[in-house]
Amino acid sequence: MTRHTFAFFLFILWAAPSISAGTLNVSIKSAAEQGEFVTASFETPPLEEMKISFMFLGSTAPCFPDPISPNRFQWTCLAAVPANALTGKQRYEIAPYGDPAFHGIIRIKKHKFPVETLTLSKEKKDLLKSGDDKDDEVKLIRKLFKTETSEKMWAGKFIKPVQGKIESLYGEKRILDGKLRENYYHRGLDLGEQHGKPLFASNGGKVLSARMFTEEGNMVMLDHGRGVISLYMHCSAMSVKEGDLVSKGQEIGKVGDTGVASTPHVHFGIYIHGTPIDPLFWLSHSPD
Ligand SMILES: [Zn+2]
Repeated sequence: MTRHTFAFFLFILWAAPSISAGTLNVSIKSAAEQGEFVTASFETPPLEEMKISFMFLGSTAPCFPDPISPNRFQWTCLAAVPANALTGKQRYEIAPYGDPAFHGIIRIKKHKFPVETLTLSKEKKDLLKSGDDKDDEVKLIRKLFKTETSEKMWAGKFIKPVQGKIESLYGEKRILDGKLRENYYHRGLDLGEQHGKPLFASNGGKVLSARMFTEEGNMVMLDHGRGVISLYMHCSAMSVKEGDLVSKGQEIGKVGDTGVASTPHVHFGIYIHGTPIDPLFWLSHSPD
């Protein structure tokens, strides 16, 4: 290294803002219930490497920065607390921040989810069996859930896709043919509505997928950005296609009973970084 490059190297070290875990002021709640989500937020100066992750409950997800002044960024990290999340004290980490990374504890409280007995026709039950086509569908859905768009496409509170009657809650366990389905919990909210009624985008976003799946039926998936995805299953018709931009309240399809559904309803799901949370909790608490 020449004297000049060495001086330049020292200058870079001096000029690049750094933050140690000790100086980070994180706003985060200390407890959450199964089915909810948590938000962590904090400010930093512009950083050399504008990449920060939030690690919680075994998953790692990106945090996203918003400039709030010429030399200040506000970061927001979201994490799902699914129905089957481990309860008790759980550690989170914000990295890369210091060594060890900035960390803390969130207490996860148990939520008692109802158990529902389900009756399905043989024809619908057959759709639950796996097959090659279904494996491909599962792979595709998993891939879509990995979508992380830095642009925030939603504004204000999310809305219900149809008014409808709540027929099944998030987190419900199910008994089918007298047997409790192992490792299963209902990953969305079922809203019963008349066949053919319009259903609406819960908030602004981009259509990730609008196609027919074996179990889900005609399903529309919307990417709202920053790891938030909403989905709408069992549609009788879909009026959007992959890549379309939609606004909050825009019609995206019609209510139906395609896929595994015994009556016309919308299965409405909200996923945070690929993990389903309680849509009712999200509707009342979604960050603006
Ligand atoms: Zn459902």
